[in-house]
Amino acid sequence: MTSAQIRQQFLDFFASKGHQIVPSAPIVVKDDPTLMFINSGMAPFKDYFLGNKPAPYARVADTQKCLRVSGKHNDLEEVGYDTYHHTMFEMLGNWSFGDYFKQDALKWSWELLTEVYKLPKDRLYVSVFQGDSAENLQMDQEAFDIWKTMIAEDRILMGNKKDNFWEMGETGPCGPCSEIHVDLRTDEERAQVDGKSLVNNDHPQVVEIWNNVFMEFNRLADSSLVKLPAQHVDTGMGFERLCMAIQGKRSNYDTDVFQPMIQFIAKEAGVVYGENEKVDIAIRVIADHIRAISFTIADGQLPSNNKAGYVIRRILRRAVRYSFTYLNFKKPFLNTIVPVLADQLANVFPELKAQQGFVQRVIEEEENAFLRTLENGLKRLDALQDSFKANGNTIDGKTAFELYDTFGFPLDLTALIAKESGLTIDEAGFTAEMEQQKNRSRNAAQTEQSDWVMLQPDTDTEWVAYDAESTEARIVRYREV
Ligand code: ATP
Ligand code: MG
Ligand code: MG
Ligand code: MG
Repeated sequence: MTSAQIRQQFLDFFASKGHQIVPSAPIVVKDDPTLMFINSGMAPFKDYFLGNKPAPYARVADTQKCLRVSGKHNDLEEVGYDTYHHTMFEMLGNWSFGDYFKQDALKWSWELLTEVYKLPKDRLYVSVFQGDSAENLQMDQEAFDIWKTMIAEDRILMGNKKDNFWEMGETGPCGPCSEIHVDLRTDEERAQVDGKSLVNNDHPQVVEIWNNVFMEFNRLADSSLVKLPAQHVDTGMGFERLCMAIQGKRSNYDTDVFQPMIQFIAKEAGVVYGENEKVDIAIRVIADHIRAISFTIADGQLPSNNKAGYVIRRILRRAVRYSFTYLNFKKPFLNTIVPVLADQLANVFPELKAQQGFVQRVIEEEENAFLRTLENGLKRLDALQDSFKANGNTIDGKTAFELYDTFGFPLDLTALIAKESGLTIDEAGFTAEMEQQKNRSRNAAQTEQSDWVMLQPDTDTEWVAYDAESTEARIVRYREV
């Protein structure tokens, strides 16, 4: 089954259960101070859960573009190293806004996985919230009893608050959840270790695929929980992980969701994917990051030097560095992957195809800007290796700041490079240097800025307008607010 068919079957299944199919909301959040990017399928529906707005339909299903690179859900550091966390991924979801509850939700998720997708029942585990005395929350007996009618009792696991009480962010709708995990190991591997012990244990072949959240509470700013006006269902299934399970692959990157991009990158780099671990990681990171960057730009967030824009610039610069160091691209390359992605998803997310040229130009200019300083920054790091070693294997704050300020290295990129050579960063030292810099620029009447430093990282800005002729102008025309 192709990934396109898998996605369609999900939507068709829930349409047959009375759900309205809606398009994905943009990945970029503009009007919610608690969230920069959509990080789950439920986020666009937050107001319906909170009772701020009436839901237009009682039952909805969709595939939602999600980004987990900041805030409570941040998977950036896993990407490339593990094979099932992405920065940008699709979350398939079905919702009940005050309509059906646990019984239907769990029954349907089981029916879809085992009867439509035909995943073997003895490869699945489910989990139920065990309760939490500190928060005075009960164990989810109801979910347990429902599962008992469908799956062997020894495949129902109890989960703690971290895994089985879902929260969107520091505040907002939340509730106990019940997850479904799949064991994709070979028979031989399964004979050695009981799959149960590997659930929620970072095993690359025993992964969580679907989460059924029972939205009952709102977490307030003072961290207290209050009951929502009604009970809702919010489910989220990782599309790329589902494809891995159904297509019998050992990695999300081996599915047809990622292979077109991976093969393109490998061909352009003149390498074969699967032959060298470092090169493979670089290819996976680039394939992952280009999705995050492309969809975010297409949805209206340009790379910049602050807030959401800087998150995107950081991801982009990580990708540039991987392609420069491990795939030997000394000239802009990442932007040429955009058409591969846009064509592949043209029927699902036409917004990327529609803006392909623009997205490509923005990425190309970002690549150009960083490639102007990247090599010298890396040389600087190399030259100082001995002094870092002498400094307790630590990159001092001054150097980390110099890399940031002069060479455009985001701190997390320097940390990533440091980690590869067994070094850490003096983050406090970096922050102190940053503070000093802020004070200096506050005192300076007018500061000169090099081409990639458009604004100080702490200034609030708003994108004003762009010149249709020049992408450069699009990026630099911000005004301070
Ligand atoms: P995990 O424990 O694997 O980090 P999660 O519990 O954080 O996942 P949920 O918030 O429950 O994930 O999201 C619902 C589903 O979305 C998960 O069951 C998983 O299939 C998928 N998912 C979550 N994070 C990612 C990610 N970074 N990349 C791809 N899929 C993801
Ligand atoms: Mg997670
Ligand atoms: Mg989890
Ligand atoms: Mg989960």
